[in-house]
Amino acid sequence: MSGTSGETKEFQAEVKQLLDIVINSLYTDREIFLRELISNAADALEKIRYLKLAGSEVWDKDLPLEISINVDEQAHTLSISDTGIGMTGDELVQNLGTIAHSGSKVFLKHLAESDSKDVNLIGQFGVGFYSAFMVAEKVTLLTRSYKPEAQGCRWTSEGTGSYTISEEEGLSRGTKIILHLKDNAREFAKPDTVKRIIKQYSSFVPFPILVNGEKVNTIQAIWTKNKNEVTEEEYKEFYKYISNAYDEPLFRLHFSADAPLSINALLFVPNDNFERFGFGRLEPGVNLYCKKVLIQQQSEHILPQWLRFVKGVVDSEELPLNISRENMQDSVLVSKLRRVITKRFLRFLNEQAEKEPEKYHQFWERFSMFIKEGAASDFTHRDELVKLLRFESSKSEPGKLISLKEYVGRMKEGQQAIYYINGPSREAIEAGPYLEVFRSRDIEVIYTREAVDDYILTQLGEYEGKKLVSADQENLDLTGDDGGKEKGLPEDEVKELLEWMKKTLGEKVSTVRESKRLVDSPAIILSPGYTTNSMERMMQLVNKDGHKIAPKTMEINTKHSIIQKLNALIKKDETLAQIAAEQIYDNALISAGLIVDPRDMVDRMYQILEKAMES
Ligand code: ADP
Ligand code: MG
Repeated sequence: MSGTSGETKEFQAEVKQLLDIVINSLYTDREIFLRELISNAADALEKIRYLKLAGSEVWDKDLPLEISINVDEQAHTLSISDTGIGMTGDELVQNLGTIAHSGSKVFLKHLAESDSKDVNLIGQFGVGFYSAFMVAEKVTLLTRSYKPEAQGCRWTSEGTGSYTISEEEGLSRGTKIILHLKDNAREFAKPDTVKRIIKQYSSFVPFPILVNGEKVNTIQAIWTKNKNEVTEEEYKEFYKYISNAYDEPLFRLHFSADAPLSINALLFVPNDNFERFGFGRLEPGVNLYCKKVLIQQQSEHILPQWLRFVKGVVDSEELPLNISRENMQDSVLVSKLRRVITKRFLRFLNEQAEKEPEKYHQFWERFSMFIKEGAASDFTHRDELVKLLRFESSKSEPGKLISLKEYVGRMKEGQQAIYYINGPSREAIEAGPYLEVFRSRDIEVIYTREAVDDYILTQLGEYEGKKLVSADQENLDLTGDDGGKEKGLPEDEVKELLEWMKKTLGEKVSTVRESKRLVDSPAIILSPGYTTNSMERMMQLVNKDGHKIAPKTMEINTKHSIIQKLNALIKKDETLAQIAAEQIYDNALISAGLIVDPRDMVDRMYQILEKAMES
């Protein structure tokens, strides 16, 4: 930046694109621009409050911390000033000329493609400032950083591709944004309109907001109040305020504790999870306070990564105000706080699951990925997390899910283990070979859908003293008779057949043996105890080079007519019998969800077809 005449700069391409949409589309919700600008002002004030408390050198240090809005119905202007940290020239270029946040590109795409132009999300994607251009044909911004040596700056733009920036003398600390309202946005120069919007969206801003000199908000840190002093409406509004959201939360936990630490916390589970729609990884959503002073916004330290979907406030008197953000990671106090709050929150979720199973089901559908992430990676809280897991099962009612506790509660007498099987859908699992033995013995089997479920259950090993066993294990210990009544093959023929199959399939299988578990299927592929078929499939998908899996145990059903016919065929046409054996093996792999090489398979199918059509 040089001189005072001003310099014109181009917006970054993404900003231009965003502005183009913001300026040229019609929105029903455009009044949210005020919420965004007030939220930026409040952020800037929180930062100055923190810097002052932490003993930093601050320009104009005695200015009151507040937000002033002035409207002029004659001039059609609305201005909003704060005494926050302000910006230096470089910061201005960085913050208001480019988009830094990773999620905002996805947001941009979403805006461009949707008809409804759901601009309400703008604040969640770190581009709230630009919403000013929904109502303003020109925006002037005057700012002076808290840094003692900084220069004041003037920034102006009409939102069309470029902005100008110049030095400005005589500014006090903070930022003033003047909106020259569009003809169709003149209502925003009316004090009553502005007051109404502030009441609706910004009642929880913890600094005075003045409209033409009159204070319009009551400042309250509702997390420090008693539960019975806060109304349902206040909770909802507070949630919307802190998470820049427009929906209502799914769950809310408001609690205080005195020991082992003094804590006031107000935590929310949002209504939905944008991460699951591919909007990018969620940023942590809990702000850390000490005696109502914001220490860190969206703190990564106060909850584990896998609770990044939780929004809210944690306030602890014990935290030293001058704790530096760098030191937070190593602070014993902070990790203690994290443990206590995480535990409390998981207990809360478990209580909700008991009290309101249907609502918990909704939660599970939207947020299970985070609970699973925690259960797979965080041993400190694993026991609590495992209680939160939900599954379909061979005995669950359609649309209902069960917990491990429910499963154990209705285990059959003498049943040794908890069984689970992975598959892409209930239908696929129920059509496959793995369930047969359990069905014939009326034993419940949990259906897992994702490889991570199998990973968690394998890692866990047991639940309440009961072993967790994947139904595709080679060493299933199911005592009792072996189901079917028809005769299998005579013993000596079975022995010969098994040897022939092992020889024919060679390296592909570790063992071929007679099955005691199959009823309707001719063959089944089993896994050794330390892994499951679904985890192997994951490995197949990850390892690009391919289709190699460790040799597995294959069991054949000697009561099945396919196996009996195969046995007879060996003597008549061994070449065809070999082809058939390989196909049976591949079919068993497919039933196991494993990936087979389609080229061999197609070749083989043609050979079989040819034979079939000869006769
Ligand atoms: P976000 O607030 O999510 O970062 P915005 O588009 O609303 O995204 O604002 C972009 C950035 O501009 C802010 O992060 C902040 O650094 C800066 N900024 C905006 N308004 C102010 C203000 N009133 N005072 C100081 N900095 C501001
Ligand atoms: Mg913002």
